[in-house]
Order: sequence, then C-alpha cells, then structure tokens
Amino acid sequence: MDMELAQEDLEFGQEVRTFFEENLTDELRDAGRFATSIWIDPTYSLKWQAILHKKGWVAPGWPVEYGGTGWTDMQRYIYTSECSRASTPLAAPMGVGMVAYCIMGYGTQEQKDHYLPRILSGEDYWCQGYSEPGAGSDLASLKLQAVSDGDDYVLNGTKIWTSQAHCANKIFILVRTRNEGKPQAGITFLLMDMDLPGIEVSPIINIAGEHELNQVFFTDVRVPKTNRLGDENDGWTVAKYLLEFERGGGSSAGIEMSLAKAKAILLDADPDNETQRLRHADLERRLEAIKMTEKLILSTLATGGSPGGKASMLKTIRSELGQDISQFASETAGIYAQVFQPEARQPNTNVAPIGPAEYLTLTPGYLTGRASTIAGGSAEVQRNIIAKIMGL
Ligand SMILES: Cc1cc2nc3c(=O)[nH]c(=O)nc-3n(C[C@H](O)[C@H](O)[C@H](O)COP(=O)(O)OP(=O)(O)OC[C@H]3O[C@@H](n4cnc5c(N)ncnc54)[C@H](O)[C@@H]3O)c2cc1C
Repeated sequence: MDMELAQEDLEFGQEVRTFFEENLTDELRDAGRFATSIWIDPTYSLKWQAILHKKGWVAPGWPVEYGGTGWTDMQRYIYTSECSRASTPLAAPMGVGMVAYCIMGYGTQEQKDHYLPRILSGEDYWCQGYSEPGAGSDLASLKLQAVSDGDDYVLNGTKIWTSQAHCANKIFILVRTRNEGKPQAGITFLLMDMDLPGIEVSPIINIAGEHELNQVFFTDVRVPKTNRLGDENDGWTVAKYLLEFERGGGSSAGIEMSLAKAKAILLDADPDNETQRLRHADLERRLEAIKMTEKLILSTLATGGSPGGKASMLKTIRSELGQDISQFASETAGIYAQVFQPEARQPNTNVAPIGPAEYLTLTPGYLTGRASTIAGGSAEVQRNIIAKIMGL
C-alpha cells in the first residue's frame, strides 16, 4: 500500500492550482466561500461550469469517451481537494455526479447522445425525484402513480425534499407502474422535463431561512414512454446503481477547510481556552483518520480492489465530523456567530458585514449542516448497511 503522493501527482496539483488562480474570479470565489451547503445559486455555479467545460474538466469521473478527463483516482482526489481549498462554486451534483452515470449504464444510444453533452455544458440542470412523504429510508414504498396510456405515462402524486427543483429544467424520477407483488418490482425510472403541464413546485424554506428544498406536485402529467430509462418495472435496479455514486467517492477537503477556519476562529477569538483547544485537537484527530481511510480506498482502487462498505462508512463519519466542526466553530466564535445577514453573503454585495466576514456563514452553515446526516441516506440506515456488510 503506497500512500505518498508521487512527483507527477504533485505536479498535477500545481497545474490545477494555477488554472484556478487564473480563472476563478472574485465573484465566483465568493459564491463558493459564502455557500452554506453543496447547493450553490446556479447563476454562479453555471458560470464556473462554462469555464471548466472549455477546459474539459467538468466531469473528471466520466469515461473519456463521454467527455471525462482520463485522470487517475488519485488525480481526481487531488482535483476535488483543490476545488475545496480554492472555494470553487460546485455544480449541483444531480447531473454530472448522478443521473449521468445511470444514462451511461442504462440509456439507449439516443438518450446518451442527447443528454450527456447537455449535462456537460450545463444546458440541462437536473434535480432528483426519489423521496415522497412516507417514502425516504424505505424508498421502495413510493406511491407516485404512472399509468400507461398509449405512448405516454400519466403521472399523479408528489415528491418531497427535492433539492433545487425550483432551478432545474429536468428531473429524474422514480414512479410506480405496478401495485401488485414486491414493491421494488413495480418501480420505473423516468427522465422528465420540469415545464410539463401539471407540475407544480412548492418551496420548503429550511431552518437557516434558505430555499433549497421543495415539494413537487404532479397532476395528470403526460410523459412520453421514450423518456423511460431502462425497462418498465426495473427502475429499482437503476436507482440502486445511482445510490452508489451518491454515497461513494468525494474527499474530506471541504471538512478540512472548515476545520482550518475553525482553528483560525479559535486563535482569533479565544486562544487560551484550554477546553476548546482540546476539542479542536480531537476534531483534528478524527479528520486525520478519515483522510487515512480515503487514501486507503484510493490505494485499494489503484490495485484493482473494491472499497466494499467503506462508502457508507465514509458518508457517515464525514457528515458527523462536519456537523461537530461547525458546532465547535459557532460556539468558539461567540456573539458574532449569531449575526444573520444573508445579504452580506452575496457575491458583489455592497453590504458591510457585522463582524468578521468569515463568521457570516457559521450559524446558517451549522443549521443547514444538520441535514447532512439525513440526506443521501440517514446515518442510522448507513450503520445498518455497515453492520450487514460486517456480518454483525
Ligand atoms: C437537505 C436534504 C436534501 C434532500 N434532497 C433530496 C433530493 O434532492 N431528492 C430526493 O429524492 N430526496 C432528497 N432528500 C430526502 C432524503 O433522501 C430523505 O430525507 C432520507 O432518505 C430520509 O428519509 P425520510 O426523510 O423520509 O426519513 P425517514 O426514512 O422517515 O427516517 C426518519 C428517522 O428514522 C430513522 N430510520 C428510518 N429507517 C430506519 C431503519 N431501518 N433503521 C434505523 N433507523 C431508521 C432514520 O435514520 C431517521 O432518523 C433530501 C433530504 C434532505 C434532508
């Protein structure tokens, strides 16, 4: 197992940093720096995506034939880490990071030719319609009905917690096409336009006062059957395939940045507080363990191995550490962590922050971050998966 960076990896990291220095404008950096979650206003994330598209760096994880970079796993890890360090405004993960893989795996040639270039260019902005009221962890119990009618399906029902549905022009969605038998065997996967008659998007404002989530209602929405991905009643296979990409991969670089920021706050606000220093040391220890595990996975992948249950493990320990760091930072910052000034967090703003600008995201970030142990599979359910893999 070799966990040291090779010379060519160090050079690759430098190439990425140089590109960011030359292309990431202050406006785009601020959009990333003041973000309180992974969902960034598309006004900025799509601008950055256009710059990456020109360079050919939008989808490092894709096979080269579809527009990927051909980088090694280590190079992709370095790239993701540099993105976090530079605060690039990340594109919403649903297109490049999720539905694209399903289209590559299960799409017809026509679907691949149509959708994949539009995902790369940012022309299509996707959201994910899986969860329903009463169908989250137990996703197979979803009820949104799709009734066959000639060349179309007619949809009735609702999806909830649909991130960025208010910005998206496309949705990939799981619908029920059979009510008898095993619930998993009656689900179909569709690729849909969001502007079809009968679709209504209703906002859900989160605890930090931000609009990322929505409930989406479908009333007699007609979707051509050619928009189906995979076979009728075989959507569960596609959905499970997608969840592997939702939970695996990534890097702890974002958490590392948060911890560095928390340390700066500690040194600034309360440097002699022994209890807080010990807390910080403990968070650092947990981060090092995660980074070691990530490198272990990369080393396993490089030698043709499989990460097994480590995707669920990493998803869980990363999200829990991220929450603990944001709590630590907010408590250390004291009174300035309580400033609620969303207008001062906008790129190009002329509103002066009350207190240090870096503190503005602490409370909204802490509140929004509560969701990270729920979204993409709750921590409890991930622990069930880990226990099953370990034979406990
Ligand atoms: C910020 C955010 C963004 C999201 N974005 C999207 C999106 O874009 N698209 C989408 O489709 N969905 C999205 N979701 C929904 C998300 O996938 C679900 O919230 C998640 O799967 C949990 O489902 P639930 O909310 O129905 O909770 P439930 O499944 O009802 O769970 C409630 C509680 O019970 C626990 N629990 C449930 N089952 C078990 C079990 N078997 N063993 C032990 N404990 C259990 C859970 O861990 C949780 O604590 C998002 C959620 C959040 C918070």
